[in-house]
Amino acid sequence: MKGLIETQLLINNKLVPASDNATFDLFSPHTGELVAKVPEATVSDVDAAVNAAQAAFPAWSALSPQQRGVPLKKMGELVISEKDELAELDAIAMGRPVSTYIDSHYAATHFNYFAEAAYPQGHTSLNTPGFLNMSLRQPFGVVAIIIPWNAPLIFFSKKVAPAVAAGNCVVVKSSEKAPLTSWKVSQWIEKCGFPPGVINVLSGHGNISGQALAEHMKVRALSFTGSTRTGRAIQIASAKSNLKKVVFELGGKSPALIFDDADLERAAKETENSINWNSGQTCMANSRIYVQDTIKDKFLEAFTKHAKARKLGDPTNKETNHGPQADKVQHENVQKYIAVGKDEAGTTIDTGAETSADTNSPALLIHPIIFTDVSEHSRIAKEEIFGPVVMINTFTTEDEAIAKANDTEFGLYAALYTKDLERAVRVGKKLESGMVGINCTSPTGCWDLPFGGWKGSGTGRESLLESMDHYLEHKAMYIRCPGIGG
Ligand code: NAD
Repeated sequence: MKGLIETQLLINNKLVPASDNATFDLFSPHTGELVAKVPEATVSDVDAAVNAAQAAFPAWSALSPQQRGVPLKKMGELVISEKDELAELDAIAMGRPVSTYIDSHYAATHFNYFAEAAYPQGHTSLNTPGFLNMSLRQPFGVVAIIIPWNAPLIFFSKKVAPAVAAGNCVVVKSSEKAPLTSWKVSQWIEKCGFPPGVINVLSGHGNISGQALAEHMKVRALSFTGSTRTGRAIQIASAKSNLKKVVFELGGKSPALIFDDADLERAAKETENSINWNSGQTCMANSRIYVQDTIKDKFLEAFTKHAKARKLGDPTNKETNHGPQADKVQHENVQKYIAVGKDEAGTTIDTGAETSADTNSPALLIHPIIFTDVSEHSRIAKEEIFGPVVMINTFTTEDEAIAKANDTEFGLYAALYTKDLERAVRVGKKLESGMVGINCTSPTGCWDLPFGGWKGSGTGRESLLESMDHYLEHKAMYIRCPGIGG
């Protein structure tokens, strides 16, 4: 990818600059070079996008599901045929290695599925004598979608596809750290056949356009993936404005329990991948590992071997599997936690010393860091770090393992490794978590079961089967029919 990219907003199928022409700079986290100038959407851009969506809604929602599916299918084809460019755009924006880019496949699955699956169903009732009663499922109108930077195309597709398939019109705000794939997709909206206003795409920071969407009186539902801190701010903005429905997928501090009868090599390999994939910038990464004390040394040895084998470097190089942190802010945050951890942990293992990495650049790289014997009350045990930093502590009994795993305000994903099936189910039932992996860990999941968190990790559940429900209102309709009998 050569030259400076200058992106635009998509409002009413027109690619435009911000209303005041303001832009912000996007730098590569690998080279430090300026890669893009990106419009900072204003409050008046948010109004224009919301008004366009509202104007498009009557005609769009009146179409049949098959008609709404046609442009979605085309989008499914484009995200696959242009996958190399999409991978490169995220690599230069936020450092995701192109070798790990699964996002196009994921997005195509969502666009294709919802192109065919959007047949909202209510139910009927004959339980009131003299009445035929029914419930209807109907779209909200204007839906706002706010996405994070760690897998932007995944979040764009998993929210936009079900929302528009259900008949809503949307305003998407991309993350200021990774706006390029959303911008690329916005150039295909008209070409796919979406009428003006059905999908509007804005770029900018949270404290202007994100906040304006969360407060907007014409936005009736808002779907958000991001940090728990921002989720709280959006919930407050919703409560202070029009009580719009909010759907949240938030942060995590996910535990993995390794019992002494586990397949140790598998457990070490998979838990290492979970925490270090995407340079530790994954909501469901198992950032807290509890290993039974009898196997601690063996597990640590196997885990460290895998962490040291990571190939750090240029994310556009196909050999790299561990890119830089997304930007300077993320890099500094993780470094601060590492400094805190060095004080709080019993032992620190820095895998950098023996990693062969291309470090001859201003790249914001961080080698995987392992902390052991960490106080359960420390900041690194409690707070989401969002970097390649893992805590490995021990337990003696099953009850202790469960208590430690649940001692958190998050509840996104928990994993456990054991060959004892009854223990696996018994422990799995007690874990306070939206998802539990048995003899597997994140990112293992599936397309058709609810994805989402308990406690501070979220309020919604998304999947091919669950997601559309968020974008449809319920209506009970009572039809007086005395002639039908009691
Ligand atoms: P973030 O909360 O900082 O930002 C997410 C989005 O919200 C961005 O587009 C940002 O501009 C916007 N935003 C910020 N302040 C806002 C405000 N006041 N009002 C409205 N919008 C605002 O999160 P991030 O750093 O982009 O992403 C990392 C976080 O996302 C981590 O906590 C991670 O665990 C979480 N995450 C969760 C899931 C999940 O499915 N549960 C998936 C991916 C990431």
